Amino acid sequence: MSFEYYYITVVSLVIFVVALLIGLIMNNRYYKAISEALTQVKEVESRGPLATMSGDFEVLMCPRCGYSKTIPYRVGDYVGKVVDEACPNDGEKLIVHAIYSSRPAEQYS
Ligand SMILES: [Zn+2]
Repeated sequence: MSFEYYYITVVSLVIFVVALLIGLIMNNRYYKAISEALTQVKEVESRGPLATMSGDFEVLMCPRCGYSKTIPYRVGDYVGKVVDEACPNDGEKLIVHAIYSSRPAEQYS
């Protein structure tokens, strides 16, 4: 076996391993994002109508320009969470600024 052949084998092996590692890391990152999106969809599907009926709302706010909008509360959302909605003015991701309920106080007792 000549040295050149050995060298090429080692280099190609190293490149293969590095590519495999990059693939694994990227895969893991995408898997997390995909599973997060899937669980959110499932939650919305299973509890969405209930949450909408309950009278809870959340205020989404753009951290860059202060744009805000109110939407029905979605299960799993919390104050400070960065949601998938983008600001119509500058495309910045909106943050859950506040969550409140419009239900009458008697219903809580
Ligand atoms: Zn904005």
